[in-house]
Amino acid sequence: EIEFNPDEIRRDFPILDDDIIYLDNAATTFSPETVVEALVEFEHHYRANVGRGVHRLTQIATQRYWHAHEKVARFIGGGEGITVFTKNTTEAINMVAQGLSWRPGDRVVTTILEHHSNLLPWRALAKHGVEIDLIGIDADYALDLNALEEVLSGGSVRLVAVTHASNVLGVTTPVPEIARLCREHGALLLVDAAQSLPHMPVDVSSLDCDFLCFSGHKIFGPTGTGVLWMREALIEPPVLGGGMVASVTSDGYVPAEGYLRYEAGTPNIGGGIALGAAVDYLSAIGMDRIHRHEERLTARLIEGLSATEGVRVYAGKRPDARIGVVSFIIDGVHPQEAAQMLDEEADIMVRSGHHCCQPLMDYLGLPEGTVRASLAAFTTEQEIDLLIAAVDEISRGR
Ligand code: PMP
Repeated sequence: EIEFNPDEIRRDFPILDDDIIYLDNAATTFSPETVVEALVEFEHHYRANVGRGVHRLTQIATQRYWHAHEKVARFIGGGEGITVFTKNTTEAINMVAQGLSWRPGDRVVTTILEHHSNLLPWRALAKHGVEIDLIGIDADYALDLNALEEVLSGGSVRLVAVTHASNVLGVTTPVPEIARLCREHGALLLVDAAQSLPHMPVDVSSLDCDFLCFSGHKIFGPTGTGVLWMREALIEPPVLGGGMVASVTSDGYVPAEGYLRYEAGTPNIGGGIALGAAVDYLSAIGMDRIHRHEERLTARLIEGLSATEGVRVYAGKRPDARIGVVSFIIDGVHPQEAAQMLDEEADIMVRSGHHCCQPLMDYLGLPEGTVRASLAAFTTEQEIDLLIAAVDEISRGR
């Protein structure tokens, strides 16, 4: 195997020439040149709508847009299901919440780890009489599967919605085990893979989920791209109109097959095609290699920050169940201020605040949030060491 060299990857990202240390990849990351080129090629050479047109440009655009869906489906081992392009993870989750038909008394189980985007769409179902249960975590931030089993045993759970990886703590969740419990009790399983997809190999058949949601812009694709994968046509299309029908009569319509049914209106064509280029790029590197690289850097980061006086680390404790996302607090320094100092004094960009996870922050007793560093394939050991040194300096000067 060729040794993993982030410096080679860095050459594909022109934005990194600007001498910045970008450790906010969990919010959104950059696109390599091949992805930008795919966008530009669409604009320069074949920009046309997709669908039933016959002229040459629409044929090229339609074919490439369809092919991008195939590439993304293959990337997640989801060729058998339906791969729908969305705007982002948030839209994908909302489509499922709005596309299932709910009955009063139905329950949805979600967890304390969730991003607001995997909580609010379910809470909004209260208007249909749907009730929500929130599963907690233990001192090692592992999900309380006994509590999950207990709720499932109640019998009215329609769906379990769980994150594959926390965007605050970096811990991963045991999705195959959760899936087994869901199958036993007849519940559907939705996995928010917004944070796992960028960092590790993800395969829907081994996860055994019914829905997988993720963001294209977090896996080197353009902003405004995301994906909803589902095992089969399990939901009604929540948005109706052109492009999603096979035929329309005076009083009804027959929906189109496959992803078309769920992509009403003109989609983000260039973005979708460029997302296909992004998964090509990731596949060429290999997600397992990216995962091992980040695993090593994450251990180094956690170790370095933990050894720094006045710093508290909030991150996954098991190396085999975490990704490159690490939260921390510098005692006596507001997370916002710490992030600003890292930017101004060390050219390091990190996130600060509640990371759209306020229930988790309340649970952790961190109302002001945390500072969060999140890695990518192009992150280097040197950058990790510079972050640790800069945090140490801020901590000493507080
Ligand atoms: N879920 C998780 C776990 C996330 O980290 C994010 C992005 N921070 C989202 C959902 C929402 O993603 P998007 O903003 O692309 O919809």
